[in-house]
Amino acid sequence: MKDYVKVVLKSGKDQSLKRFHPWVFSGAIKKIYGEVSEGDIVKVYSNKEEYLGTGHYQIGSISIRIFTFEDTEINTEFWHNKIKNAVDYRHKLGLINSDTTNVFRIINAEGDNLPGLIVDYYNGTAVFQIHSIGMFLIKEQIAEALINILGNKIQAIYDKSESTLPFKSEIKAQNGIIYGKPITNIVSENSLQFHIDWEKGQKTGFFIDQRENRNILQKLSANKRVLNIFGYTGGFSVYAIAGNAKEVYTVDSSARAIDKANENISLNFNNAKHAGITADAFDFLENNTIDHDIVILDPPAFAKHRKVLHNALQGYKKLNRIAFEKVKSGTIIFTFSCSQVVSKENFKQSIFVAAANTGRKIKIMHQLTQPADHPVNIFHPEGEYLKGLVIFVE
Ligand code: SAH
Repeated sequence: MKDYVKVVLKSGKDQSLKRFHPWVFSGAIKKIYGEVSEGDIVKVYSNKEEYLGTGHYQIGSISIRIFTFEDTEINTEFWHNKIKNAVDYRHKLGLINSDTTNVFRIINAEGDNLPGLIVDYYNGTAVFQIHSIGMFLIKEQIAEALINILGNKIQAIYDKSESTLPFKSEIKAQNGIIYGKPITNIVSENSLQFHIDWEKGQKTGFFIDQRENRNILQKLSANKRVLNIFGYTGGFSVYAIAGNAKEVYTVDSSARAIDKANENISLNFNNAKHAGITADAFDFLENNTIDHDIVILDPPAFAKHRKVLHNALQGYKKLNRIAFEKVKSGTIIFTFSCSQVVSKENFKQSIFVAAANTGRKIKIMHQLTQPADHPVNIFHPEGEYLKGLVIFVE
């Protein structure tokens, strides 16, 4: 077996790895035996020299991302098998050959035991968003495995890791096509069409993780006036119109997003009663009459790391408080948090406080999360990032 640099942990710091949590924090490391560069494969041992796992090394608070807890050869076949597992799982979900949906997440980092690697599938084009140097260095192997496994379902691969790799790293990533030529940028989700801009759009281009939550909105929308705040490219708005909403409004601070939302609505419907509004969400809520039947609040992550957790919770409280102050009785609110550091309990508590402060009585209708193509590894609870509540304001 190939020799990799050995990393020994401090006594007592092996517990989380023994429970298959895939991260080694820098403070847990006692000694690194040899020269190690960012992205290198290292083997991790306990203070008692027990093998714990093999992973990618990186400079930063998370020093090693473990991709296997078995002491096995790391070669092309190893990566091929891992990617095959992820693809087989999407086959089981009915996503690979679906007639109605050709947009889904094909690799979900820790959730698929491939820490640092996100791959989204857009009707023939796979978009890579890589968060670790180790995965970035083997992206050609990953691309090859995906092409071998998925055949002509992969027409092109676009690498969009420029903004997700650690900015201090020596490696300078550049976004661009790394394989083939995209044949289309129009995708179908539950038979609804969306125009995807993976180059300039947010994340990999679309918030695929809201697919099933949009379905719930569709079912509730008949004859309703729907206000989609933080609407981005109109995902929820298109579903509301498909569910026969009376009128739909999409609000986003990005004029570009609103243009795309309008475009997506025209792609699906001829005479939809829709208005796209470029505005700040807080200003819009404060300065307008909010007498809609359904309101969606899907803000960007208010906290990107633990240090700002308190501010993030204040943000959710404030946003929901303003909404509770303004909505009429009988309104249904879809409220979300996609901040990884905000737990389900914390989020629910923010909504509780917002309701208590405004004296509104609310019922929880649905508790929402991310769909099965964004699986959560039970040993890595941080992977459960999307939380949502559908609430009925009495
Ligand atoms: N619900 C969307 C995803 C929302 S992403 C979907 O299903 O596709 C968050 C959106 O909030 C982004 O489009 C971003 O442009 C917008 N945004 C960020 N800050 C904002 C603010 N202060 N006011 C309004 N929109 C904002």
